[in-house]
Amino acid sequence: MPRALAAPVEAEAPRHGAGGVGCRRCELGVEGALWHDENWVVTGLGGPSGLPCVVMLQTRQHVDFPDLPDQLARELGPLLIRVQRAVFAIGDIGNVHVCRWGDGSEHCHVWFMARPARVPQLAGSFAAIWDDVLPPLPEDVWRANLDVVARELR
Ligand SMILES: [Zn+2]
Repeated sequence: MPRALAAPVEAEAPRHGAGGVGCRRCELGVEGALWHDENWVVTGLGGPSGLPCVVMLQTRQHVDFPDLPDQLARELGPLLIRVQRAVFAIGDIGNVHVCRWGDGSEHCHVWFMARPARVPQLAGSFAAIWDDVLPPLPEDVWRANLDVVARELR
């Protein structure tokens, strides 16, 4: 039985780190990052998930995606391509989805989700769901894939 669509709520729930208060990204800085420069940081997730590789490109400054200053907006385009290529370098990747939702955290973050090559069931916008429902990657494979991304970004 499909769940009925609920009525709109009174107001949007506050996102993580709203107003820069208690923001995990800001607190972590570049600790454990795969790569960073003065304005940006690339990180993996906290542990293995279902897809071969999931990384995030984030600003170092606490800013929301729609409010990116011009300088950061100019840097973002080339970085999207650069990070996507670094994830492709893992090998046997059919596609790297570049995603921005921003419903969870206010701090500007863009997802890169690697889809394994030659698995048609995993194609398309459900990749993020597959990442949650597939069994997590073995820890050593997960780390090796992140090492490739870090190496390619250097
Ligand atoms: Zn932040």
